[in-house]
Amino acid sequence: MLLGEFELIARYFAPLAKGFAGAFGLLDDAAVIAALPGHELVAKTDAIVGGVHFLPNDPPDLVARKALRVNLSDLAAKGAVPRAYMLDIMLPKTVTEEWIASFARGLAQDQDAYGMHLIGGDTDSTPGPVTIAIMAFGDVPTGRMLRRAGAQPGDRVFVTGTIGDAALGLKVLRGELTHPDTEAANFLVDRYRLPQPRVTLGPRLIGLASAAIDISDGLLADLRHICEVSNLAAVVESSRVPLSAAAGAALATERVTTALTGGDDYEILFTAPSAELNELTALSQALAVPITAIGRMKPPSRGAQVTVLDESGESLAFDRGGWTHF
Ligand code: ADP
Ligand code: MG
Repeated sequence: MLLGEFELIARYFAPLAKGFAGAFGLLDDAAVIAALPGHELVAKTDAIVGGVHFLPNDPPDLVARKALRVNLSDLAAKGAVPRAYMLDIMLPKTVTEEWIASFARGLAQDQDAYGMHLIGGDTDSTPGPVTIAIMAFGDVPTGRMLRRAGAQPGDRVFVTGTIGDAALGLKVLRGELTHPDTEAANFLVDRYRLPQPRVTLGPRLIGLASAAIDISDGLLADLRHICEVSNLAAVVESSRVPLSAAAGAALATERVTTALTGGDDYEILFTAPSAELNELTALSQALAVPITAIGRMKPPSRGAQVTVLDESGESLAFDRGGWTHF
């Protein structure tokens, strides 16, 4: 690559800091960020690695937007409104300036869409694949961040959007799934490449949800996380899990396991008392974000932490609870 580190920062990253005073034009050692009055900052970092979270020939602007959005999904699940982010980028020496230019365009597009600024980061070279770590900051009213803990026995379990699309999209990309319909296949791939973090809904769940988590490791695995810290068990009715038409058609041949255990949904899984059902329905309509009740929380039992029931009420066995790296 022809550009030096500082030229690269000045040309491609400094423009993304414009308008955020505490970023000092990316010309200082560090940035300054204060929460809005009555709020505190929620911070989250997530790294994505070439060959693991995205494919080496994925369009760089989409890679950038995914890197940002996986963090926004966490902020949304915590009820925070996104405001700023930092970018650590590790680049192999073979990366081209066009790649970086496209990557920066992707960031520009999404930071505008989500009302955020780049406020700093680090740039290094690596003998390995492109690696991108973004840290996102968002505002939440003090003491009100949505937690994984807090679900109560009898609370309903809800999910936003549709489940399993991204896991199926990844199968399509890997050639492991041939979808009967090309348009549907593209929809699934798109859901894998570009998550839609529920940033408008998340903050509105404060006061309604008793617990919340971002679904990234798979619906069942993430529900298990809520069970653990809330010290409860859960029942999911598999027939209620919302599937897109494209996923439904694919699952005619695939087992529903892919939807329940596949990762990368970046939807919000939350619990709330039944008394909030009307409020949640109104919110879902007002924000045009689907919200579906899929099960219930119950006291912990000696059996499985999360039980999945089929249409006839029989419990389904699962060999794999979700995606783990190791
Ligand atoms: P240091 O030498 O302390 O590591 P750098 O020279 O790496 O600092 O960074 C100089 C400035 O550029 C800092 O404000 C840093 O936050 C910013 N910066 C470096 N890399 C990036 C990046 N990839 N994205 C955004 N800002 C960056
Ligand atoms: Mg540095």
